[in-house]
Amino acid sequence: MKKPIVILGPMESESALLIHHLENKTEHKIGAFTYFKGSVDGYPVVVCRTYIGMVNSAAATALAIQHYDPLCVIIQGTSGAHNPALHQGDIVLGERLIHVGRFFTPHRDVGEGSDAFQWEPHGSEIVTVAPGEDTAVLYSDSRIIDIAQTVPYMGGRVIRGCIGAADIWNKELDMLAHLHRTLGTDCEEMEGFGVAQVCALFGVPMADIRVISNSEWHPEEEFNEKFGEQCQMFVLEVIRRLIAEKTLM
Ligand code: SAH
Repeated sequence: MKKPIVILGPMESESALLIHHLENKTEHKIGAFTYFKGSVDGYPVVVCRTYIGMVNSAAATALAIQHYDPLCVIIQGTSGAHNPALHQGDIVLGERLIHVGRFFTPHRDVGEGSDAFQWEPHGSEIVTVAPGEDTAVLYSDSRIIDIAQTVPYMGGRVIRGCIGAADIWNKELDMLAHLHRTLGTDCEEMEGFGVAQVCALFGVPMADIRVISNSEWHPEEEFNEKFGEQCQMFVLEVIRRLIAEKTLM
């Protein structure tokens, strides 16, 4: 039995096109999640809409791993720019993945208020990576990222970079600049690190591939779902190449 490639997308506009491109598909419901299993170029592929956020995406990933024993998991979709040089349509290949919602705050007394710039970033407890320690950075599988870099793309630039994830949508320019400077993030979204953490716990290769769909640095670049479709078409080409070149197999 060939291990399927699992592709995840949080919203309808980040998953429907991939589901549409599956040949001979069947549906399998597990709780709130629907997994569409079919094939691309004769190779088994499972697509699931995870819904938005870290917990949803982590649950969808764990169930996919348990039920399908995947070759790899690819989470993809839209993101907002931290790096001012990026624009709508640009693709960030998430070489490095960081949780941007996990902090320890210094003590402050009543009346002293809050200052998020003083918050200390804090790693996650991922026992398969570093037992007894905290892990701040996870990595997409470099073989998937290398293949993704060979895909021709007319919609913008394709860069290898760092993707931050948390259950937060940041629109404060000073905060975006702070995260970009201190953690090196190029963009933010709400699922990637959750998927990466579950994949690390189960030893499954993964990749996070995101399109920039909005940038606070460029006020005219407001969120637009059409970029979710652009990202799906890019990722479809990535998996076609993974299949053709038998990467990871
Ligand atoms: N504004 C959208 C809701 C998107 S919620 C709407 O009106 O329908 C956020 C989703 O988009 C998440 O799945 C997240 O991964 C992605 N996303 C895109 N840009 C983001 C940003 N700037 N910050 C956080 N998540 C973002």
